[in-house]
Amino acid sequence: MEIDQAKIPQATAKRLPLYYRFLEGLQASGKHRVSSSELSEAVKVDSATIRRDFSYFGALGKKGYGYNVNYLLSFFRKTLDQDELTKVALVGVGNLGTAFLNYNFSKSNNTRIEMAFDVDRSKVDQVYGDVPVYHFDDIEEKIGDIEVVILTVPSQAAQGITDQLLECGIKGILNFTPARLTVPDDIRVHHIDLSVELQSLIYFLKHYPLK
Ligand code: ATP
Repeated sequence: MEIDQAKIPQATAKRLPLYYRFLEGLQASGKHRVSSSELSEAVKVDSATIRRDFSYFGALGKKGYGYNVNYLLSFFRKTLDQDELTKVALVGVGNLGTAFLNYNFSKSNNTRIEMAFDVDRSKVDQVYGDVPVYHFDDIEEKIGDIEVVILTVPSQAAQGITDQLLECGIKGILNFTPARLTVPDDIRVHHIDLSVELQSLIYFLKHYPLK
């Protein structure tokens, strides 16, 4: 079945990696089918949303059977380009950056941090995890066809670095700094501010207890 990727809503597309990771685990443990309630429990998305999400790509769960794990995985692989390796770069080899370089998405075989950049001479020309660190001044020469950057620099440096990244053809930035970045419309920035996320969790626990 041909699926028009453009018709998948963004909110659904954002949940695909979540579904994918869980289903991969199921397949590895030899399971061939899964119910929406089982999925819902595991990924913490309500089952009505899961059913709606899955209907966009023609996966209609059968009553009493659930969803076919292999079908879903092959669809997700195609949609998420899981068969292709996406190389990314990291800028800012501080505490958080170093943790990412050591982690390097080792459980995923489709994304890899290929290189990192910093301005600190003591970090340049070193290898963290398996990842070489270059001077940020050399980014244009080294970056090649990489289009995605993880940004873990001090917030006051973030906008200036972003402007330079755009000149190198970067199309997507995963921004871990508290800075709000200004970019043109065709550039995608996903912002993850860990301390805001943590504070918001604590706030919700306090003011909106689940039970
Ligand atoms: P550390 O303990 O190594 O300083 P940190 O996470 O507390 O870690 P930050 O001040 O947030 O440090 O800086 C993160 C990294 O970003 C550092 O390695 C720093 O050298 C680097 N950095 C700072 N300015 C730039 C820049 N303009 N371009 C690239 N990297 C930069």
